[in-house]
Amino acid sequence: MSSDNQSTTTGIDLQFDRDHLWHPYTSMANALPTYGVVSAEGVELQLEDGTKLIDGTSSWWACVHGYSHPKIVAAMQQQTAQLSHVMFGGITHRPAVELARLLIEMTSPRLTKVFLADSGSIAVEVAMKMALQYWQGKAKPNKQKILTVKNGYHGDTFAAMSVCDPEGGMHTMFGELVTKQLFAPAPQSRFDDDFNPKELSEIDNLFEDNHQQIAALLIEPIMQGAGGMRFYHPEYLRSLRKLCDKYDVLLILDEIATGFGRTGKLFAYEHSGIEADILCLGKALTGGYISLAATICSNEVAQGVSDSPAGVFMHGPTFMGNPLACSAAIASLELLKENRWQGQVRAIESQLKQELADAIDYPNVKDVRVLGSIGVLEMNATLNTAELQQQFVDLGVWIRPFSNLIYIMPPYCISSSQLSKLTHAMKTVAKQISLPNDTSAFISHG
Ligand SMILES: *Cc1c(COP(=O)(O)O)cnc(C)c1O
Repeated sequence: MSSDNQSTTTGIDLQFDRDHLWHPYTSMANALPTYGVVSAEGVELQLEDGTKLIDGTSSWWACVHGYSHPKIVAAMQQQTAQLSHVMFGGITHRPAVELARLLIEMTSPRLTKVFLADSGSIAVEVAMKMALQYWQGKAKPNKQKILTVKNGYHGDTFAAMSVCDPEGGMHTMFGELVTKQLFAPAPQSRFDDDFNPKELSEIDNLFEDNHQQIAALLIEPIMQGAGGMRFYHPEYLRSLRKLCDKYDVLLILDEIATGFGRTGKLFAYEHSGIEADILCLGKALTGGYISLAATICSNEVAQGVSDSPAGVFMHGPTFMGNPLACSAAIASLELLKENRWQGQVRAIESQLKQELADAIDYPNVKDVRVLGSIGVLEMNATLNTAELQQQFVDLGVWIRPFSNLIYIMPPYCISSSQLSKLTHAMKTVAKQISLPNDTSAFISHG
């Protein structure tokens, strides 16, 4: 669709959007097309011309219960009328207390202290600050480095960028402003293959040589998301927990993409049966209705932070603990507690496995993988997002490829016929694709 015939005074002015609004990871000089969405319900987005698209992305992995869910909508409407926001300094409220209680109950026993943050990137910043202040409290102020693995993605703020994949562009682009961290190779053994213990030798060496400088190991558990949609072996994560214990390093798990059922477990770390010292949550926390994130730490970490020279934890955003966002999160978590998600995710997983399997025989498909409600076709080269986007819209679905990946992670309430429409679209586009020769993958979730 051309942007010109869409810019009417009553509708969404796509030309104004093009001229004045930044979108994620786009150029202002050469803007990519955008599609005007007017409403959404269940798993469908509605465009201005009435076209309905089945959303295969859950709005960037967040909208797990679907759009306009009556329970979440009602909770938010009621909360807006009663108390939309109030400062969190010196004040508290029922939504924050109730949400913290639910999060502590749902996550592993060690995690007891909740910091509510505005977005995933901030939750990661907060986790890193906690780790550094913890070691100050333990009189080991030299422990300031973060050890992580390649192919990670942890957000777009500066500290978060410092632990993103070093080849993704962020590091070279911003030079000295991005702190140098320690990178081990990306996990290699696949989720459903045998574990190869040899892949630990390099990270083991990094621990051994640098542990006196390492505050924390930070990693996405089981699935590396925006850094390549890679599913790795649970034993790898178990081994990292052991190395952290051995070398006196904190373990920070970034569950922002994986949390709340996406991989088939409520939290992906459950595949490994381990606990984090600090856990970051975001994206699906509010069911994808409004921005909110959380960083949850152990008593031990909280005590160390409180023993640091500052005596307090040095972070406190203006909209911390926003009651409206907390009310959405409570409603979303209560829906998860009804426990339908497990059966839904299991059904999505088996259908994805069944329907995507034969794509491995397509000439441009390098790999097909499925975990929980995530289905991925990895292609042989970088894709043209704008071009493919239009093809998907023409097929009645919303799927947004990035790098060399065509993937879906739909809302859990998707029906099997809607899911078939998504897999059919993925395969149709993957089959007919003619790939450019450019193989440089710019890694982002844009
Ligand atoms: C999306 C994401 C983030 C960043 O969250 P924002 O809310 O976009 O700041 C951090 N870590 C992981 C694993 C993510 O997928």
